[in-house]
Amino acid sequence: MEVAVSFVRKIPLIEKQCTVCGKTFTGTKKSAFCSVACKSRASYARHAEERRQTRMEKYYAEKKAAAGKK
Ligand SMILES: [Zn+2]
Repeated sequence: MEVAVSFVRKIPLIEKQCTVCGKTFTGTKKSAFCSVACKSRASYARHAEERRQTRMEKYYAEKKAAAGKK
């Protein structure tokens, strides 16, 4: 008789603090957020920063180009 190999691994849960709301929660070593809401909030904030950066770069490039036209 063969024993089915299980791919389910036991992941140790540790107490962590949410990087978004600061709430203490139990999660895996990799998890940084207490909930999906906080995860999406952090993801949104990160992309907002990216968007801001792109906009600023574009603004300065245009300003530089305009200054060079003189
Ligand atoms: Zn949170």
